[in-house]
Amino acid sequence: QRFQRLMDILFDTEQVHTLNQEQDSHQLAQLIGAELIPDWPSRRIVLANAHGLHARPATHLVNMTKKFAGDILVAVDEGAYVSAKSLTKLLAMGCRRGQTLTFIAQPDTDAVAGLEQIIDAVQQGLGEEVEAVDLVSHQHSSSDPVVNTLELMPFESHGDTGSCGIAASTGLAFGPAHVVKPREFSYERRGQSFKAENEKLEIALHQVKNSLRQFIAHTESTAIKQIFMAHLEMLDDPDLLQSVQRGLKQGLSAAAAWHDHIEVAATAQAALSDRLLAERAADLRDIGERVLAALCGVADVTEPEQPYILIMHDVGPSDVARLNKDRVAGILTAVGGASAHSAIVARALAIPAVVGAGVAVLNIENHATVLINGDTGEYVVSPEQSQIDHAIAEGQRQRELREQAEQHCLEPAITLDQHQVEIAANIGKVGATIQAVADGAEAIGLLRTELVFMSHSSAPDEATQEADYRVVLDALAGRPLVVRTLDVGGDKPLPYLPIEKEENPFLGLRGIRLTLRKPELLRQQLVALLKAADNRPLRIMFPMIGRVEEWRAAKAILDEVRIQHPCENLQVGIMIEVPAAALLAPILAQEVDFFSIGTNDLTQYTLAIDRGHPLLSAEADGLHPSILLLIDQTVRAAHQHGKWVGICGELAADPKAVPVLIGLGVDELSMSSTSIPLVKAQIRGLNYINCQQVAQQALSCDSASAVRALVE
Ligand code: PEP
Ligand code: MG
Repeated sequence: QRFQRLMDILFDTEQVHTLNQEQDSHQLAQLIGAELIPDWPSRRIVLANAHGLHARPATHLVNMTKKFAGDILVAVDEGAYVSAKSLTKLLAMGCRRGQTLTFIAQPDTDAVAGLEQIIDAVQQGLGEEVEAVDLVSHQHSSSDPVVNTLELMPFESHGDTGSCGIAASTGLAFGPAHVVKPREFSYERRGQSFKAENEKLEIALHQVKNSLRQFIAHTESTAIKQIFMAHLEMLDDPDLLQSVQRGLKQGLSAAAAWHDHIEVAATAQAALSDRLLAERAADLRDIGERVLAALCGVADVTEPEQPYILIMHDVGPSDVARLNKDRVAGILTAVGGASAHSAIVARALAIPAVVGAGVAVLNIENHATVLINGDTGEYVVSPEQSQIDHAIAEGQRQRELREQAEQHCLEPAITLDQHQVEIAANIGKVGATIQAVADGAEAIGLLRTELVFMSHSSAPDEATQEADYRVVLDALAGRPLVVRTLDVGGDKPLPYLPIEKEENPFLGLRGIRLTLRKPELLRQQLVALLKAADNRPLRIMFPMIGRVEEWRAAKAILDEVRIQHPCENLQVGIMIEVPAAALLAPILAQEVDFFSIGTNDLTQYTLAIDRGHPLLSAEADGLHPSILLLIDQTVRAAHQHGKWVGICGELAADPKAVPVLIGLGVDELSMSSTSIPLVKAQIRGLNYINCQQVAQQALSCDSASAVRALVE
């Protein structure tokens, strides 16, 4: 197109005349519509405005730049330049807090001197009050800006001590720090020559491909092998090389051409409506960063030899699930909450974890010794020898307690005054049932089927599901299985079940609300369950019930399916996760066979605190009296109608909560199977009558901490 434009000008006598006038390269390039890489004086600044360059500060900027006759262009991070005098163009850049603005000014004009004033004005906030940007947390433009804004305003002591986070997975761990954080690369935008830059690119690609091949040869995990083999394939894509080379021909440096191409490709990929395809953007960015690091001579951060403390901004459930337990002694994150799904996975893998400790943890030196306490949420950098000795001794004591408890884990949990509580396991992988039974599970109290679905790369058909559920029932050998129907949505998206982007996913199309709108999906799951049951004890429950109509609609679908697939030993219940359901328990109890209280969500919705909120989730304590009152009401209603109640949220394994929940009359506690031996051992030391008294007092406490102090 640009060539065409040039030809048009050359063959048009009027236009060719314009070429004869004295033009600088900038004007010429503009004339033919070429992309500019101007060599103008420039200044850079990190934008500090909390809500980015939105209309108000952008207008301020436009008004200011318009005062200068010369052109002033601006780019965000390494993006394309636009006129800093155009409001629409500025807004379209979508510059967020923490991103870098580069201003360039037309040489030999008043704009050059104006750069200084512009930088000053941006620094002052362009008419808004601004807090300085913490550069570490803003190296990655995709990091959550809200987190960092809140980091500046800690409430009480949490988050500002720098040595305390949220206890997320029990145990003490220490080891060298392995900090995984976004890295910063600096490079020239303009290249030396096509030949030189192309050579650099080829060397970097060769280097990265070699290290990937080595990694593939050494890793034992097939899942990880597959990921890196896909990365190798991406790097071998001839289109990729050609696109980057086009950038080199335009005069860009290898690093700039590579970065620009990856960003454009990854952004386009992420925008695809097919979620599975959209997720490949992360892979593109991953290889993008590796090659960029090689181009900029930034060394890869190598994993320490001995078991280490993994330090990250946040870890997703799949990150934790992919961790090598033998290499990762503990996890320390800047953000996250105790009942977020990543913390649940950490507990299931028995990796001590402290989460939500603040972005300062990302500044911990790689390889510095770090000690974390997954029971108190404390962490220490470069601990004294005495602290390490104490951790070793404490670790030894905990191991001994656990070993003792494990010896009796297959025995029932009966209090000193002969009150028995059923102890069950929560699982998300069908293969985990055998271990759960070995850990002492008397039932599976929660099979999170959405996690079972996630283990398949495409939607499992009815036969695949049936085979999955059979694995669990076979391993249970006659013990009951409580299955929850698909609970997709919230923080658990399912790649092949795309949901429109929602403002508030936790208040949106989640759990039963989604499956009632996809009744075929629900029906198929129910058929697979009933077929797999073979009259073994099966309990089916529906998640996120908030209204009686939802329960009845789901039950009606099940009743329909049951006509074709009769099942002898079936109970049907609901999860109590929404306060409305707990308040309606006296009505629902007449219709259901059982309730299972999901305290993770019940706490989130009762206290109106996002369970994964980086700062607030520490305050989302399930022992808050408001939640205990809802549990109390649910248990009373159920018992009045001869129905049973279980707890399957994380509270069920909290040593402070166990006596209170038992005292409220809960019949079953379901937890990560690693917690079972210790909880059973604890119950054997309790007195039911005492628990009832404590529970009654807890109901009239004024806060969660008062309840915890009472139990102490
Ligand atoms: C809960 O909400 O307590 C629960 C057990 O469900 P999930 O954690 O899977 O949302
Ligand atoms: Mg839930």
